[in-house]
Amino acid sequence: MSSWNSDVDLSGKNSLGFKVTAERYLQVDSIESLRIALYEVEQNNWPLLILGGGSNLVLKDYLPGAVISVATQGVHVLVDNESEAIVEVGAGENWHGFVGQLLQMGLHGLENLALIPGNVGAAPVQNIGAYGVELADCFHSLTAYDRKSGELVQLSKEQCQFGYRDSIFKSKEPGRYIIWQVRFSLSSVFQPNLSYKGLQEYLSSIGVREPNAHDVYKAVCEIRQSKLPTPSEIGNAGSFFENPVVPEAEYHRIKQDYPSLVAYPDRESHYKLAAGWLIDQAGWKGHCSGSVGVYDKQALVLVNHGGGSCTELLDLAKEIQDSVLDKFGVSLQMEPRVYPV
Ligand code: FAD
Ligand code: NAP
Repeated sequence: MSSWNSDVDLSGKNSLGFKVTAERYLQVDSIESLRIALYEVEQNNWPLLILGGGSNLVLKDYLPGAVISVATQGVHVLVDNESEAIVEVGAGENWHGFVGQLLQMGLHGLENLALIPGNVGAAPVQNIGAYGVELADCFHSLTAYDRKSGELVQLSKEQCQFGYRDSIFKSKEPGRYIIWQVRFSLSSVFQPNLSYKGLQEYLSSIGVREPNAHDVYKAVCEIRQSKLPTPSEIGNAGSFFENPVVPEAEYHRIKQDYPSLVAYPDRESHYKLAAGWLIDQAGWKGHCSGSVGVYDKQALVLVNHGGGSCTELLDLAKEIQDSVLDKFGVSLQMEPRVYPV
């Protein structure tokens, strides 16, 4: 029998800062304790949420069934030679802490992903990305518990089916795998990725022409701190909507009416529209609706000013979706997962 904690307050474990109670909660740090807990979950048919840092979730007031957090720790170098280093990290490690540790170790590739909240175990779920880099760029493989077979499995990059903010864990087989350890393929040679204008401009503005890894890491942290709300101060779940990818003809239709449209060429004959720009143009930036609202420095981020609830936030999200659809004919999809559905 696992020692579940009952009626646990998860207010401090979701970045929106909602008052949420879990019927049962357990932190696991060994496969044996995970197996025992899952046996009970299955025997009792409890709904199950695997919770990381709670920064990509919109949680309702009460979570029936079970909530499990994976607490595996540790950063280990498995291979280190001239061409690459393979590093294995526990799913329970904090993502930003891990990126900082790699910097100290002189291993490169993930600098542009600094300051993304949450745990390492959740990072492959939506193939986290920022400033032109995504997790898949440095991903080697992972170890996960497969609830279907009851076995620990190793999944390669191909098996994870990474896409734009997507993976097998998010869309194809949600709930099947519990990620335990993740391995990254890194390099001791730093090659900056400055494909995002904002990052390049920031570095130029502070007089850095040939940035090293520390410069890029620091710049990403500073830009993010200036544009995004810190969850411990203002509750939020990062970007609330995905950037819609539309066919070229639709892009031209919108661009004709709105020449300042912010968009980037995407896969063949498609464009990625900046969802934040659409929401801003629809007049929502800085809007407040009771305790929730739209962040005044980045319209893609919905915030909880304190005391807000999931219902209030989802009502606001629906109003935004309707108004963007009405104005631009574009449908916005939510990025964070609402739980329970
Ligand atoms: P959670 O929110 O706890 O969980 C997310 C999903 O992963 C859930 O479905 C959960 O069940 C599942 N999950 C968690 N752990 C495991 C596990 N061990 N095994 C299997 N499934 C698991 N995202 C980006 O991509 N880029 C950004 O730049 C970015 N910036 C952000 C900035 C802010 C201020 C905030 C609040 C969020 C941002 N995000 C960003 C979103 C979020 O931080 C990431 O998606 C992050 O990886 C979520 O990690 P988490 O541990 O908080 O996951
Ligand atoms: P930004 O730099 O103001 O850019 C606005 C949007 O334009 C972004 O969503 C980005 O798409 C896209 N973009 C900018 N330059 C691009 C380029 N050269 N090529 C292709 N697309 C480009 O964005 P921001 O809000 O300050 O965020 C900065 C980065 O952090 C972005 O990559 C963003 O995804 C990431 N971020 C993500 C979250 C989240 O919760 N998912 C939260 C905060 C920040 P992409 O989003 O596809 O990169």
